[in-house]
Amino acid sequence: MNKTRWQKGLGFVISALISLLIIIGWHNYSTAQNPPLTLETASLSLEKLATGVYALISDTDYPPTNENIAICNAGIIIGDNGVLVIDPFHNEALGNLLLSEVKKLTDLPIKYVVNTHFHFDHTGGNKAIKTQAIPIVGRGTIREDMLARNLQYDPNPSPPDLVVTDDSKIWLGDREIQLKAVEGHSGGTDIIAYIPDANVLFTGDILFNKRFPFIADGNIKKWQRTLFSLRRNYQDSTFVPGHGKITDKSSLLALNNYLHKLEWMALEWKKLGLSEEEAINSAEHIPDIYQKYRFKALYPSNLKTAYQQITMQ
Ligand SMILES: [Zn+2]
Repeated sequence: MNKTRWQKGLGFVISALISLLIIIGWHNYSTAQNPPLTLETASLSLEKLATGVYALISDTDYPPTNENIAICNAGIIIGDNGVLVIDPFHNEALGNLLLSEVKKLTDLPIKYVVNTHFHFDHTGGNKAIKTQAIPIVGRGTIREDMLARNLQYDPNPSPPDLVVTDDSKIWLGDREIQLKAVEGHSGGTDIIAYIPDANVLFTGDILFNKRFPFIADGNIKKWQRTLFSLRRNYQDSTFVPGHGKITDKSSLLALNNYLHKLEWMALEWKKLGLSEEEAINSAEHIPDIYQKYRFKALYPSNLKTAYQQITMQ
């Protein structure tokens, strides 16, 4: 049967409409699957600490509900002739988000990126930095640790290309940034960054604020000594922790008290002769004063580390 011209025209209009609906539907679907990355969707807020000193503060719990929610905090320090960025989050997309936030704040180039330690949640975003050919600074065994130990979460790590072994300084024109090597959280790769003219200290994961810390790669006793000396040396500084809100030295004491409590429990287990399993089962209830802490998923592994580092010694 021959179709009339009218029928053919109607067929074309209907098939065009169907195609349009499919395209709109797919667009909505893909937008719902991958919403555009913004500070809000990444659970980040930009906070100004002093002239040219900013932090991007993550509000998530752990683990986050999707891969493009930032887990750690980042820093942006703007000097006279360039910018230094601290910890570009855990993947390339979040690293690029950080770069675009810097562009909104200044026309100056990013001259350095600092990784405060080797863990993937602070270094996975290095991929975005490498494509810009910006030098990444880390400490000690950070390259070896990233390449050997981050693969589960970051299969293709981009380790720093400038490795320091001790305290160092970076100048952005007249603005000084002191990098200090500290011990306790991540086996010889911890760096803290202090900006004297702003009295702001970016601590990396030497400080968790109202979150259970990740301590499996750390040393509980060395970490306590570091927290003690930071309290003495940075009495009135503003602290940007690796995780949690901006704070003051009271958070150093709170974390030190938590590590001390772990140590005390581990010595009790030793006195009672408990096995690791018995010890962890006996302590699985989170003490009341820490009930409001986030990162509760890390508490059982904190007990395990305390057992291995203290009970078994
Ligand atoms: Zn971290």
